[in-house]
Amino acid sequence: MAAASCLDPDLVREVLECPICLETYNQDQLRPKLLQCGHSVCRQCLEKLLASTINGVRCPFCSKVSRMSSISQLADNLTVLKIIDCASSCGSAAGLMCKSCKNRLPRQYCCDCSVVLCDACKVEGHQHQGHTVQTIRTAAEQRRKDLGGRLTSLRDTMANIQKKKAAIDSVSKSLRLKYKAVQQEYARAELQLQEELGRSRRAFAASLAEVEKLNSQILEEQTYLLNIAEVQVVSRCDYLTMRIKQTDTALLEEAGGNDEEELDVKSNLPVLLKLQEPELVKTENPQSLDMGQLTTKQCTVNTDEEDGQELAAAPPLSPPPLPL
Ligand SMILES: [Zn+2]
Ligand SMILES: [Zn+2]
Ligand SMILES: [Zn+2]
Ligand SMILES: [Zn+2]
Repeated sequence: MAAASCLDPDLVREVLECPICLETYNQDQLRPKLLQCGHSVCRQCLEKLLASTINGVRCPFCSKVSRMSSISQLADNLTVLKIIDCASSCGSAAGLMCKSCKNRLPRQYCCDCSVVLCDACKVEGHQHQGHTVQTIRTAAEQRRKDLGGRLTSLRDTMANIQKKKAAIDSVSKSLRLKYKAVQQEYARAELQLQEELGRSRRAFAASLAEVEKLNSQILEEQTYLLNIAEVQVVSRCDYLTMRIKQTDTALLEEAGGNDEEELDVKSNLPVLLKLQEPELVKTENPQSLDMGQLTTKQCTVNTDEEDGQELAAAPPLSPPPLPL
């Protein structure tokens, strides 16, 4: 069939059919005979023409008269014979011929049997059976139209697929941007929290240093006072020891108020120290160090719409909690 589809069937018919009886030439009764004008008719038709004239045959195409008295005076159309011979020997003739009689060139097509038929075969076995028979040209046009329709439909489908692919591409790109934005937002919140923690730590350290300073001032002051009292007590002890060791006379000679005088140290010793004991009271603020949780919202993408790639922006049900 491939070979047949390359050849214009009308052209093939013009070459291989007798233009008078419309039968396909063969090697016998329908042998192609070449008229003097160059046109061909079959032997059978030529005999009929010759029977009705006296000294020549008028060409049915160009009206030129080929002068002769016997068919044997006209040559065979060897080119046509060669084609017929070749076609029947290499088998491709079967592809060109009527599928029913395999003898004549087809002009008709049976839509029910999907075969090409010659005019003689189309009635018997097809039209009589109620089959739909069209000329090959009409059937081919119909088929061409069907195929064209299917092609158009496939091209539409392809365009639709490409549009959807583009929409998905675009959505994917837009989602990637959103992932990045959310991540950056988290990083910013983290940085802010770190700054806040630093501020808090510095304030805490300053308060603690203040307490430490106040406490050590009090303690140093008291230590200083105790040192002085200690020195006083030691020197008094030394004096009294020395007095005890003196001779009786000397001890009694210097009787007087001096060594009777008691050193009033006790009343000056510290009893109550007012100090600051540090204690950490934690703020109730952060239950944990979660800066935020990821929430998502349902979004639908319509790949059929032009702007389907833009994510439908509905406000989120719960905004991400950022304790800052
Ligand atoms: Zn003929
Ligand atoms: Zn002619
Ligand atoms: Zn046939
Ligand atoms: Zn049929």
